[in-house]
Amino acid sequence: MIASLALAAGAEASEGQQQDQAPPAGDVVVYLLDHQYLPTDELTTIQAEINKIFSDAGVRITWVSNASPRRRLLANELRIVVLPSDGTRWFQGPSNIIGIAPHDDTGIGRNCFVFYRQAIWFRQQAVWRCRQAVEARIEAAMRGVEVDPYIDSLAPEDCGDRLPSLTALIVARAAAHEMVHILLAKLDHADEGLMRQSFDINELWAVGSEGGPFRLTDPEITALRSFSTPTTGGSR
Ligand SMILES: [Zn+2]
Repeated sequence: MIASLALAAGAEASEGQQQDQAPPAGDVVVYLLDHQYLPTDELTTIQAEINKIFSDAGVRITWVSNASPRRRLLANELRIVVLPSDGTRWFQGPSNIIGIAPHDDTGIGRNCFVFYRQAIWFRQQAVWRCRQAVEARIEAAMRGVEVDPYIDSLAPEDCGDRLPSLTALIVARAAAHEMVHILLAKLDHADEGLMRQSFDINELWAVGSEGGPFRLTDPEITALRSFSTPTTGGSR
């Protein structure tokens, strides 16, 4: 199970008041700080998945890699910080947290942290399910019997082909979840879609148009559409 948690914590502690250049043009500007030194193809997959999720709300994302302005970020700007840790140093509580978006008690924050080692752990659970399913299907074929529906629930038949992009998809979906918390100053979770409190490992196999488990709900899309027109800026 993946849980994404928003911690109530003091925000903006690292930001100075210094002004620098104007933000890049874009509906939403994401400063991606990659402390994991991800390979380019993985970064590309992460960005493409996040772009796809937000495109449902008509929101286009401008990506800025490994840079962040030394000023208070605007309402349409945020940081994604990919950390190499498993996140356990951040919590006293559950250890299955893959992302957090620290914010104040009104929901205002600008940073989305994703714990890469935790994404690796989830991928490993998926690898185990894939291997179990593949072996069970081979055995069923040899015996000439039907595959147990339980096996189909573990992993799709082409799970092996999906493994190479799986970690990136986990990171992307966790990051997108935290982004919605930040952009909408949203403190609560939804019953369905991207903003559920936790994801099931079996859902992570979904690719492309199968990505339904990670879609935005209609109210979230409506709220996010305020970003899909030129913004006038201003802090919040
Ligand atoms: Zn959350």
